[in-house]
Parts: sequence; structure tokens; C-alpha cells
Amino acid sequence: MQATQTEKSIMSKEPQCKKCRRAGVKLFLKGTRCTGPKCTMVKKNYPPGEKGKRRSRSSEYGRELREKQKLRHWYNLRERQFKNYVTEAMKKQGGDQDSGDVLIKSLENRLDNTVYRLGLAESRPKARQMVNHGLIFVNGRKVDIPSYSLEEGDKVSINLNKNDKKVFENLTEKLKNHEVPSWLFFDRKRLEGKVTGQPVAEEVEPPVKMTSIFEFYSR
Ligand code: SF4
Repeated sequence: MQATQTEKSIMSKEPQCKKCRRAGVKLFLKGTRCTGPKCTMVKKNYPPGEKGKRRSRSSEYGRELREKQKLRHWYNLRERQFKNYVTEAMKKQGGDQDSGDVLIKSLENRLDNTVYRLGLAESRPKARQMVNHGLIFVNGRKVDIPSYSLEEGDKVSINLNKNDKKVFENLTEKLKNHEVPSWLFFDRKRLEGKVTGQPVAEEVEPPVKMTSIFEFYSR
């Protein structure tokens, strides 16, 4: 299904906090602000717009659209990229493979997401920016493709030669209390992460009803 014009314009220009208000859940797109009292969702937990003080009842299509938007924004992806992941997951399902699990695995294995999960960036949008700016190495080589798919055994580190020291300010301090998911390992001394397994959907706990996403793209 093609993204509507409204959907496209919302996706490209909408401020991050409005995405959370529209989705009705925190999508954690602004780092530390998201966990503090300044989070917009604390005071404005209703959809943006003059009439938005309460959530109106929506059609089945509207609900499915909202669910897929939530996950797409959670992973900070454009419509076309997100749709490609969903289409691939639908093709791969079968046997003991659940399409929802396949989708979550592909999204979690992205390099930008892994940088975020390792605690090297405070949000997915910032992680994506770091990768784009060439600040991230995979197995000792610069990789500046945010969608790069990592595999078990891959090592992720930061490009300390870059004159972008501000990005890594207080990193050791920030990493002290950061917990990585079970499929990743982080060596705090070497500031190096490693993929040690496969992402687990139950551990990821995406804030959506996964079946709605597949139903939306199957229309
Ligand atoms: Fe969403 Fe973060 Fe903005 Fe809160 S501060 S509304 S979680 S992007």
C-alpha cells in the first residue's frame, strides 16, 4: 500500500515529540529529555491539533495505520525503508518463523539501532547521525550506512580519530548505568560492542500490536 500524501508530509517534517503525541506512546526520539519531566508526553498526552484533546475513535484502517507508524517512528525509518522490511518479513515467514519475530530481528540488527542499543548514542536519530558522519566502525572499518545489517560476531566501535569529540563527551560516565540487551556485549574499557546472538522479540517489547502492521500492508 502506498503512503498517502498527508502521511508522507507528516513523516518528513513532523517534529519528534509530535510523533509521540500522535502515536499515543513515548517513542524515545530525543535522548535524556524523554525520561525526564520535560518530555512533552508528560503534559500533552493527546494528539496534536486544536481538536486533539482526546483520541477519537478510529476505523480498523486507522488503528492499523497508527500501529505501523508507531513502529516505523520507533526505529526512525522512512516509509519506503520500513515497508521493505515488512515485505521481506512476510516473504520469510513460515515453518517455525513468525513474521513479527523476523521483522524485529531485521530492525534490531541495523547498525544505527545497535549503536543506540549499545549506549553509544542517546536516541536512534542520534545514532543514525553518528553512522552517517562516519563515527562508527564495524570490525575495524568505517561503515557509514545506517541500515547496514550486523551479524553474530561483528564488532562495533567508535572512530576515535574523528575530530568530533563533543559527540563522545562523558561517554564513559553515561555508559556506567547502561544495560545492553542479551544479544549484545559491550566492553567498557575498549569502548567496543559485539553481536553475540540474535535479537529476541520478547525482550525488545515493541510498543505495538505486530499483527496490525502485517494487516495494514496486506490490504
Ligand atoms: Fe517523545 Fe522524547 Fe519528545 Fe517525550 S521527549 S515526546 S519521548 S521524543
